[in-house]
Amino acid sequence: MSLMGQMMQMPLSISSLLIHAARHHGDTEIVSKRVEGDMHRTSWAEVELRSRKLAQALQRLGCEPGDRVGTLAWNGYRHLEIYYAVSGSELVCHTINPRLFPQQVAWIINDAQDKILFVDLNILPLVEKLAPTLPALKHVVLMCGRDNMPREHVLDNLLCYEELIEAEDGHYSWPTFDENTAASICYTSGTTGNPKGAVYSHRSTVLHAYASALPDSMCLKATDTMLPVVPMFHVNAWGVPYSAALVGCKLVMPGHHLDGPSLYELMEQEQVTISAGVPTIWQGLLNHVQANNLRFSSFRTTIIGGSACPPSMLRTFENDYNVEVVHAWGMTELSPIGTICRLKGKHANLPLEAGQKILEKQGRAVFGVDMRIVDAEGDPQPWNGIASGDLEVRGHWVIDSYFNVDKSPLHQGWFPTGDVATIDADGYMQVVDRSKDVIKSGGEWISSIELENVLMAHPAVQQAAAIAAHHPKWDERPLMVVVKKPGAKVTREELLAFFKGKIPNWQTPDDVVFVDELPHTATGKLYKLKLRQMFADHKLPTA
Ligand code: ADP
Repeated sequence: MSLMGQMMQMPLSISSLLIHAARHHGDTEIVSKRVEGDMHRTSWAEVELRSRKLAQALQRLGCEPGDRVGTLAWNGYRHLEIYYAVSGSELVCHTINPRLFPQQVAWIINDAQDKILFVDLNILPLVEKLAPTLPALKHVVLMCGRDNMPREHVLDNLLCYEELIEAEDGHYSWPTFDENTAASICYTSGTTGNPKGAVYSHRSTVLHAYASALPDSMCLKATDTMLPVVPMFHVNAWGVPYSAALVGCKLVMPGHHLDGPSLYELMEQEQVTISAGVPTIWQGLLNHVQANNLRFSSFRTTIIGGSACPPSMLRTFENDYNVEVVHAWGMTELSPIGTICRLKGKHANLPLEAGQKILEKQGRAVFGVDMRIVDAEGDPQPWNGIASGDLEVRGHWVIDSYFNVDKSPLHQGWFPTGDVATIDADGYMQVVDRSKDVIKSGGEWISSIELENVLMAHPAVQQAAAIAAHHPKWDERPLMVVVKKPGAKVTREELLAFFKGKIPNWQTPDDVVFVDELPHTATGKLYKLKLRQMFADHKLPTA
């Protein structure tokens, strides 16, 4: 008979993260650039108190355990309070991306059956438009003070956030319940088919917060000032609202001001040390500092993920600005972190360039996530850095099923990510491509990411996308769609010649077209599906 452990049974809970932050880092600041336009300063202690009051208000509004509460909001202290008040009181926080198509927003709210919706000031017009199509919705709460409440609006159930909080006394104790209770829901962007909801539990969220803060993960510390550029509606800002409370660091919330100049100003003003976001955002910041000859005085680490970090971006940050780049890979279905790229002890004496070659990869699995690559038959492929296969994962914060969907997404107990990857002998995973973006040329595969990475290193190129164009002989051949840097001059032939020696000759794209801008998804990634539609009739010169 096995001997049972004799330790306390304390369910992992999201409220315990906030209680910890308030007790041990109570005066550590949460600074927000508000939608109202001004700066706002609060602290972990104050956020905890106001979250308690908000939890009381939600009860008063008739919310019951398990009810979904939606948010359509940018990164700010009120959104943080909602995160904790909702999950902490056994309700389910459903963050929604306001940049999705309005019909999609409505579809998601109805699928989740949100009872209450918290909305930032500048998103109200969207909700006013959608309200008639949201039958389950009881109240809309505008995230502002009384002074900013609109005199005229079309909603008959509009409440004021600050009034809700003012009406409560804060005499509320965070309840204790099963750690497997749902804490939050995030929908995948649904570029194909309807969006699907990933339902995170308290347990999965707390374990993810532990793992993501580790030194070989984000390396988040009490001495840090963290600016999550990644929105709180994009997989819970990659868990930063939780990991920041766990370590008790200062948080700087940028609101909806995500352009290069605004981010730079905020980073300098608040002496930000670490940040996290998608490559598109970092491109905007780098353009700004390069064009204006600026330096970073405190910024030391940037976590880059969501799509592949171009190797040229990694080198610019590290070599020109002394900012460490930490490349990470994840998905909505993984809460989101799966792998993070940091060197190992044995790499200590590697020359800079050799080390950076490793850091270009998506990284090693964080403990808590297990991964494998399999071929079309489902057979595991070797970890030699060459063999590629469909990437599958399992772990403590990987979904088992989608909200409201009966069919299991799993394959032999593993979650198929839809990415094609290699894994090397040291366990570093590299994404070759999303399986739907890979270019299939005469039975051979060409990685669109690899082609994009080559052109992103060209001084005249602002952004590059590689897509498959139809070819009568090869089925598909690569077409590059390029945005030039402002004022830069470069020809199609020069860009094609730039591939020479950098990739095998047969992979060299067949054509380059220039456009003024590239389409992006609601989370700032290249919208390949749209691009493929735009160039569906493109005639390759080689055809
Ligand atoms: P969506 O992009 O559909 O909104 P997610 O945000 O969950 O949904 O995106 C997950 C996908 O993003 C991954 O399956 C992968 O294709 C891509 N991705 C995430 N991080 C990286 C990375 N560092 N490098 C390459 N691809 C990445």
